[in-house]
This record gives sequence, structure tokens and C-alpha cells, in this order.
Amino acid sequence: MSFIPVKRDLPVLVHSVCVYCGSSSGVSEKYTQIAKEIATALAQRKLRIVYGGGHVGLMGAVADAALQAGTEVIGIIPEHIKAKEVQHTGLTKLHVVADMHTRKRMMVENSDAFIILPGGLGTLDETFEILTWKKLSLHNKPIIIFNLDGFWDPLLALIDQIVVQGFATPSDQALFKVATTVDGVIEILEQSSTPEKGVLTGRM
Ligand code: AMP
Repeated sequence: MSFIPVKRDLPVLVHSVCVYCGSSSGVSEKYTQIAKEIATALAQRKLRIVYGGGHVGLMGAVADAALQAGTEVIGIIPEHIKAKEVQHTGLTKLHVVADMHTRKRMMVENSDAFIILPGGLGTLDETFEILTWKKLSLHNKPIIIFNLDGFWDPLLALIDQIVVQGFATPSDQALFKVATTVDGVIEILEQSSTPEKGVLTGRM
């Protein structure tokens, strides 16, 4: 295993954005709507989208909207769930990988920033993994939690509670930013810079 030092002072523009979101659509049409709006806004700025490669739920909505708006969409899906999550056949590139760990590592390696939309347990897993990898200095890329209509309020309250009770530090709350509008997401991305691409993934 290589131990490559984190380089923090090499600003690089964000080119590829990873979107984590539900493989379901949720109970309201508003979730699909916002997924499409985010994807379209990213595509209009010529940002490439990296996601889980499925054609279901919000994941499918993000991919379809981004493709329709003319940007590249890269999917990464494990062999054993490509039927369950209905692998998307119209992507710019679909990587079918051996397992979930490979998928997650490749999603991070191929992305300069992360957006978390509403989702379920899988989205939570991905959220905590990307947050904790940042805490461990395995990457230093922007993480944006999209808090649509307070969807993630309970998660944010839990993180507050963890800090208040001394199981994390206030600096852990700086690992991520919260946006409540599509414009807010774009603004954070525009203000963000990422360390040199590829430098930070050697320890994953
Ligand atoms: P969900 O939010 O549960 O609809 O899942 C969203 C995505 O997270 C899907 O593509 C899942 O395959 C993926 N995912 C990542 N890690 C996990 C995990 N530990 N358990 C279930 N799904 C996961």
C-alpha cells in the first residue's frame, strides 16, 4: 500500500462531479424534479457526472437529464447489482466492476466533488464513507449535502449531537457544505478548488 502525502495547495477546477442519490424515487415527484434540475445545471456548465450506473430512481433521473443536456455521464456498477439497479445502457461510459468497494473507490477517484441528494441507506453509506475518507485525509474534495426541503435535517442534527457530545469536533462539520437550492450547489462548486487530481486516492 502506498502512502502518498496529501497536497492541499494545488487548486484544480472541478471537472467531474459525483452524484450520490436514491435508487428509489421517493414519495414525491419533487425529488425526481430536483435530481433533473441538478443534473441539467451541472451539464450546462460542462461538468461530467459520475454516478452508480443504474437506471432506476433518482439515479436514473440524474443520468437521463444530464445526457439530455449534453454532458458526459460515467456510471460505475458492480456486476452483482447491475440487474437490480438496471444498468444504464445509454451512458458515455459504463464500468461494470467486480464489487461494491471497487465501485466506491472508482467513483471517488474519477470525481473532483460530491453532491448528496435525497436517498436511502445506500446513499447514507456513501455519504459517511466520503465524509470519513475526507476526515482521514484520503481526499480533500468538496462535499455538498443538498438539503431539499429539510430532507437531511435529521442527519445534520445527528452530526450536531455527535459534536456536542464530544464524539467529533466542530472541524468535522467543515468537512461538508450544505445547499438548499440548485444555485446554491453551483455557487459552492464554483468557489471550490480540488487538490491535484489522482494525488489523494493512493491510500484507499
Ligand atoms: P439507496 O440510497 O439505498 O437507494 O442506494 C443508492 C445507491 O447506493 C445504490 O446504487 C446502492 O447500490 C448504493 N450503495 C452503496 N453502498 C451501499 C450499501 N452499503 N448498501 C446498499 N446500497 C449501497
